[in-house]
Amino acid sequence: MIRTYHRPTTLEDALSLLESDDAAVLAGGTSLIPSLIPAGTATAVVDLQDLDLDTIGLDNDRIAIGAMARIRDLVESDLVPLILRDLARREAPNTIRNAATLGGTIASRDPESELVAGLLVHDTRVTIVTGDGPQTVALPDYLATPTPGIITGVTIERGGAAKAQRTGRTPADRPIVMAVARRTDDGAVHLALTGIAAFPVLVDVGELTAFDPPGDFRGTTEYRRHLAETLAARVITAVGESI
Ligand SMILES: Cc1cc2nc3c(=O)[nH]c(=O)nc-3n(C[C@H](O)[C@H](O)[C@H](O)COP(=O)(O)OP(=O)(O)OC[C@H]3O[C@@H](n4cnc5c(N)ncnc54)[C@H](O)[C@@H]3O)c2cc1C
Repeated sequence: MIRTYHRPTTLEDALSLLESDDAAVLAGGTSLIPSLIPAGTATAVVDLQDLDLDTIGLDNDRIAIGAMARIRDLVESDLVPLILRDLARREAPNTIRNAATLGGTIASRDPESELVAGLLVHDTRVTIVTGDGPQTVALPDYLATPTPGIITGVTIERGGAAKAQRTGRTPADRPIVMAVARRTDDGAVHLALTGIAAFPVLVDVGELTAFDPPGDFRGTTEYRRHLAETLAARVITAVGESI
């Protein structure tokens, strides 16, 4: 249960409230609010919606996206690469996409987030602000070891060509395993997958056999590993690379 609601208008106030009130960051609330209800604990939240963190623009040769940009905003933005718009559209039902934010999606580290996988192949860098100031970390590092603080935004690499493939129980269902590959403008190929680790991962093709995906009712470890190898081969071929 939320007992204290803060809605600061500056980052400094947001940080000091987070420290002084043992509060949680509230973005779209689509994941946080349901998690607080069953726990029944007295909780304070710091709502980021008045901090002007929802813009999408250019930052030199990269695209800068504020942490409070909604998933719907990514779908609708002409600046966002087509593959990311497509993957954002596949993220959750539209009612959730209208509320959920990019920062919340990254902080949630959902192992099946297709959007996060797409961000991984776009060399995404995450900016986090703490009382010590801002720092920028590569998305794979954030996912592996989340930095405490407020995510204020990301920058992503532009250009290149990307393809994604997925296998789910139905076309509308969240994928059991999904792979996305991107060939950059200078010819490097980046590959990311969902459904094979505790969060979406950037991998080398040769490393796929090293993963031990957790099995569930939708697919065993062996089945997920097989899907990962098959889908990875397809998307890498689709961006013009042979394996
Ligand atoms: C029906 C349904 C379907 C869903 N489908 C998907 C799906 O397909 N893919 C998927 O990935 N998720 C899915 N989710 C989970 C959830 O909606 C997403 O992870 C969502 O993107 C979270 O974003 P939010 O802005 O609502 O975050 P919140 O719920 O507000 O916050 C989530 C967590 O992130 C932290 N946080 C939020 N913003 C920041 C920030 N700027 N800095 C630091 N920490 C922050 C919060 O403190 C909290 O711990 C689904 C949820 C529902 C209810």
